[in-house]
Amino acid sequence: MTRDDEPEHSSNDGGTDDRSEATVNSDENNDSTRSDGRSSDSGSGGSGIESESDTEPESAPTVPSAADDDGGKSGDHDGDIGQDASGDTDRNADGDTDRNADGDTDRNADGDTDLDAGGTSFDFGSGSRSRTDVDLDVDEVLADEDDEASTGLFDDLLSGEPIFENKEVLRPSYTPHELPHRKDQINKMATILVSALRGETPSNILIYGKTGTGKTASAKFVSQELESTSQKYDVPCEVEYINCEVTDTQYRVLAQLANKFIEKNERVIDDRLDDLRDLRSTAADDDRALEGTEFASVADVDERIADLESDREEMQEVPMTGWPTDRVYSTFFDAVDYHERVVVIMLDEIDKLVEKSGDDTLYNLSRMNSELTNSRISIMGISNDLKFTDFLDPRVKSSLGEEEIVFPPYDANQLRDILQHRSDIAFKPDALTEDVIPLCAAFAAQEHGDARRALDLLRTAGELAERSQADLVEEAHVRQAQDKIELDRVVEVVRTLPTQSKIVLFSIILLEQNGVHNVNTGEVFNIYKRLCEEIDADVLTQRRVTDLISELDMLGIVNAVVVSKGRYGRTKEISLSVPIDETEAVLLSDSRLGDIEDVQPFVQARFDN
Ligand code: ADP
Ligand code: MG
Repeated sequence: MTRDDEPEHSSNDGGTDDRSEATVNSDENNDSTRSDGRSSDSGSGGSGIESESDTEPESAPTVPSAADDDGGKSGDHDGDIGQDASGDTDRNADGDTDRNADGDTDRNADGDTDLDAGGTSFDFGSGSRSRTDVDLDVDEVLADEDDEASTGLFDDLLSGEPIFENKEVLRPSYTPHELPHRKDQINKMATILVSALRGETPSNILIYGKTGTGKTASAKFVSQELESTSQKYDVPCEVEYINCEVTDTQYRVLAQLANKFIEKNERVIDDRLDDLRDLRSTAADDDRALEGTEFASVADVDERIADLESDREEMQEVPMTGWPTDRVYSTFFDAVDYHERVVVIMLDEIDKLVEKSGDDTLYNLSRMNSELTNSRISIMGISNDLKFTDFLDPRVKSSLGEEEIVFPPYDANQLRDILQHRSDIAFKPDALTEDVIPLCAAFAAQEHGDARRALDLLRTAGELAERSQADLVEEAHVRQAQDKIELDRVVEVVRTLPTQSKIVLFSIILLEQNGVHNVNTGEVFNIYKRLCEEIDADVLTQRRVTDLISELDMLGIVNAVVVSKGRYGRTKEISLSVPIDETEAVLLSDSRLGDIEDVQPFVQARFDN
C-alpha cells in the first residue's frame, strides 16, 4: 500500500463532486481504480453505490416467478463462491491501473466464500434500506482458503456438468461482433469517420454515456471496421485507442502515441528497405531493373537506402518518464507526420484524463492539424461523465465537441436482448431457466441500464450454479449473484478507504456494536480520537472528521442525516449503511489498523462506565 496515511480530503472531491447530488455514482468511475489508489467502485458490478436509490432486490425487478417469495431470503445460499478478495489488493498497491483496462475485476478466480444462510441483514444505501438475509462471509473472503485440500481440490468441481460453453464471452474484455441497440450510434460514428477513408479529416467526436452503455465496445467495433476497410482500399488511415484511465497524464498519452507511431513507421521503413535492397541487388547485375522506378542509378538507390536507415536510427522511443514534455510532444508530432495518413485517436475515459491532468493534452492535440504537413488527426473522446466539458478550455471544448453522440442507458428489454445474444454463446443449451435473463436485465436496468452489470450478474449467477453443482442456472442464483456483487463492492470501497477514514468508520462500527445508534459527529469524534491515540495515528480535527464522515456518506457506507433539534440547532445522525461484521473484517484486515482490534476493549470500557 502506498497511499498516504493522511487522507487528502480534496483528492476525493474530484471524484465525487460532479456526480449527481445525493447519488454517488461510483459507476461513473466504474472500471476504475483511481490512480491515487482509491477506487470509487469495485469495478465488478459496474454500478454505483447509491445513497438514496433503492437497490433492494424485492422492490423492483418484477419478474413473474413462483420463486419470487424466495426473494434472496431463503436459506439455500450455500453455493461456494469464489471471491478473490486478496487478489484484488494489488489494485491498490501501486496505484497503477493497467491490469484492468477493460474493467473486468475478476474476483471469481479463486478462493471460496460461503454464502450461507445466515441472519445478517445488511443495508445498502441510506434512506430506504435493502434487507437481504444472506450472510456473505467476508472473513473467508479475506482469509486464505488453505483449509480445503482434503477432498481433492478439483474433484467436486469436475463432477458437475459444466454450465458454461464459453465463459469468456461474458467478460467485459470480450468484444462482441454484434451490438444490439447501438445501431444509431455506430452508424453516426461511421458517417463521421468515413471521411478518413477519403483522405479527409473527420470531425472530432465526443461520445457521452454512463458506464456500461456500450461506448467502448461500439468505438472498438467501429475502429476495427475502419482499419480493415482502410486496408481493403489501401488508404492510409490508422486508429489508435488509448484508455485514459490507465494512461492518465499528458506525458504518458503523448509517449504512448509517439511510440505506437514510431513502431508503425519502423515497420513501414523496414518494408521499404527490404524492397529497396532487393531492387539494388537486381539492379547491380542488370540496371534495366531500375526502369520505371524513381531511381536513375544504383547510386540513387543507395542514397535512398542510406536516408531511410538514418531515419530509422533517429526514431527513438520515448521512455515512460524523464523527458521534458515538449520533447515528447515533438517526437510524437514528427512520428505522426512522418508520412501521409489520417489518424483517428480514440481517447476512452477522457474525463479521467482531464480530471487528473487538466486539458493540456486535448489542447495540444486539437491544434495539431494546423501544423502537420503530411498527416491529419481526428480525436474521438469518450466520456462517462456527462458534464466533463464544463472543465475544459472553451477552445478545446468547441474543437472536441464538433460532433457529439450520446449513448443512452439501456432499458430492461434492451438488456434482455444483449444478454440473450451473449448467453447463446456463453452457456450450454438450456442451461438457464427462463426467468434468469429477465431478472438479470431487471436488476441491471435499475442500475441505470448498465450492460456490464447485467453481464456480470449473468456470469456470476452461472458461476454460483456451477459451483453448487446445480444443473441449471436459476433465479435464486441471480439473486445470490446480486448480493455477492453488492458485497464485493462494499468490500472494495471499504478496503480502499484512506486510513483516517477507516478509523472514523471503525469508530462508527464500535458505537453501533455497543448499541449506540444514530450517533452524532461528536460521539464519533470522541471514539475516533481515542482509537488514534491507541494506535498512534495522527488525530485530525473534528472538522476534518466531519468531512470524512460526509465522504463516507457519499460513498454509501454510512448514512448521515441532518436532524433538527429544535432550538438546539441541527445535528447529524450517523448510521452504518453496510453490513457491520463484513465491514469490520475488511477494516481489521488492513495492517495499518493492525493493532486496532486490541484497542477495542479500551474503547469498550467507555461504554461500561
Ligand atoms: P462503456 O464503455 O459504455 O462503459 P462497454 O462498451 O464497456 O461500456 O460495455 C460494457 C459491457 O457490456 C461490455 O462487456 C460490452 O461488450 C457489453 N455491451 C454493451 N453494450 C452492448 C450491446 N449493445 N450489445 C452487446 N454487448 C454490449
Ligand atoms: Mg468504456
